[in-house]
Amino acid sequence: MDNELKAFEDFLTEGSRTAYPNPSRHGCPPQEFLKNLAKHKIPIEETAARIDHLRSCSECFLDYTRFQDAVSKEKHRVRIIALGSVAAVLCVVVIGEYIVNHRFVPAGQGQNTTKAGAQTEVVATLHLEDQLVVRGEDGQAGSDRTPALKRGLLRLSIYLPPDSVPGSYTLQILPKLADKQGLLTFPGTAEMKEGHPVLHASADFSGVQPGKYYLAIRHGNDSWRYYRIGLS
Ligand SMILES: [Zn+2]
Repeated sequence: MDNELKAFEDFLTEGSRTAYPNPSRHGCPPQEFLKNLAKHKIPIEETAARIDHLRSCSECFLDYTRFQDAVSKEKHRVRIIALGSVAAVLCVVVIGEYIVNHRFVPAGQGQNTTKAGAQTEVVATLHLEDQLVVRGEDGQAGSDRTPALKRGLLRLSIYLPPDSVPGSYTLQILPKLADKQGLLTFPGTAEMKEGHPVLHASADFSGVQPGKYYLAIRHGNDSWRYYRIGLS
């Protein structure tokens, strides 16, 4: 705040309210000036030019204090709104973390996974185009070349065998071939990419224990195809 205005404000006392009556508003500056003065938006030269009048006009004093009140109320209101927004953002973050940390955790699997706030999706590619489809439990199919995924929130691009078709798919992670219900079930969509069918799907693998699993893939209502995968 400039010194002239500071001096003016220091001068203002309850006495100014009645000491200088000016009912005809002789020589008063426009209301806009007083409003901007209360907001400290008036340049120093302009304030200096008006200061003598302001010091000796109770009407301007009353208007000025009214505008000053409004300004401080507005500042208070803005501060309340800002605090409210911060509280709302915190709520969203807390609820979001709760959802991220509690979904997709299989029942009975007590110990939780990543506690580290909002997980970021990790892009992972799985090549099944030359993997043999598993026909029976503990089949040797490609056992030494089992594709592996690092557990987490994954966005998968799965390269399907060449005879696969584009469209909607369902995917499951099964501990055993005989399991009817997967640890994870999630949808995916396959499209042709440079002549290869590629299946895109996202799922949170962080609640699944590391180990060897079967990845079951089904196009629409066709029969399931099973592939071995490792989760580390
Ligand atoms: Zn005045």
